[in-house]
Amino acid sequence: MSKSNKPPSILELYPEETREAAALLRQAVPLMVRHDIPPNPVHYALWYTYSRGNEPELNQRLDKTLSNFDSFPPEIAVKLFREYIIRGELEEARSGQQQVIELVDDIEGSIATSVMGSRNYQASLEQGLAALQEPVIDDLPNVLIELQENTQQMQNQQEKFLHRLRAAQEEIKHLRSQLDRAHLAATLDSLTQVFNRHAFNRLLEQTLSQGHEGVALIMLDIDHFKEFNDQYGHPLGDRVLQHVGQLMRNLLPTNAMAARYGGEEFCIILRECTSNTQAHAFADRLRLKIQSLRIKVRSTDQILDSVTASFGYSLAKAGDDIESLITRADDALYEAKRNGRNQVHPSAPEPALSA
Ligand code: GH3
Ligand code: MG
Ligand code: MG
Repeated sequence: MSKSNKPPSILELYPEETREAAALLRQAVPLMVRHDIPPNPVHYALWYTYSRGNEPELNQRLDKTLSNFDSFPPEIAVKLFREYIIRGELEEARSGQQQVIELVDDIEGSIATSVMGSRNYQASLEQGLAALQEPVIDDLPNVLIELQENTQQMQNQQEKFLHRLRAAQEEIKHLRSQLDRAHLAATLDSLTQVFNRHAFNRLLEQTLSQGHEGVALIMLDIDHFKEFNDQYGHPLGDRVLQHVGQLMRNLLPTNAMAARYGGEEFCIILRECTSNTQAHAFADRLRLKIQSLRIKVRSTDQILDSVTASFGYSLAKAGDDIESLITRADDALYEAKRNGRNQVHPSAPEPALSA
């Protein structure tokens, strides 16, 4: 089992160092100039990503838009920005998003200056080239001096811009880590520190869209938890849920994820799990860990050793959506309860096709 299937963090989306970022920007700005694309945060982000070349589909769509329209339609730019740059991630952390937008707005001024510089420089280059093609070049020294001055001016502008960009990069780094934290908080269950149901649904959907092979879903439910609460009180029940969350986190392979599905019910997505035996063994290890929990009642010093859970699991099959997979694992969990609890049950095998 290998890489984590955590959603990409904002840091992972833009990992460049300042030097690389500046080089990419140097490619992006002339592109925008050439196609007469107004400098604004949305365009800047799109053409920056275009220059990175790691979103081939975005590049194709930008190329296509350029060939279909005289000027780049702003609504298409915003649409592409949402699809490829924000991807719904930042939208969950609105205040952080606002800060990033303000910051990008702030460096927009510098970009505009840089673009103007490139434009002037380009115009001056064209003039210079045209002059060089004249049969008699009386004015050659002046043309060259002007070109040299423009080059110097352009370099100064670029340097100022890069300086500003470097400062902005620092601030962006800080904001990104804040956004990461906000993003994580929005996906975690606050009591148990495993993912919440919303994040689970999204990740299971994402996992299945990448293929069904090797995906297993385990569902577990604490046994007789209502009685436990009735006997020892809700706060102690909460502590049990916290312990179960911690056991899951400790036992989880790096490419698996655990979530609180609701109340005292949890789900685990396993990857690279190709047999019932593998899923069963993992669930049974967790079952034994839960059974071994010892919880101290603080008021009486009594040690409780009675917490158990029941498990159902199912391997994903071609054609499964999240609903069909959850239903099979849940049915298996129901069987585990029916057979006496504190046990692991696989989903029912497919009925054999009659000849
Ligand atoms: P079974 O073995 O069939 O699962 O029985 P059960 O009592 O666990 O099942 P039931 O669904 O009847 O009860 C679930 C209980 O879980 C009821 C509710 O009080 C408790 N519960 C749900 N969420 C929380 C929570 O956040 N904290 C605590 N302490 N209890 C919770
Ligand atoms: Mg339940
Ligand atoms: Mg229960």
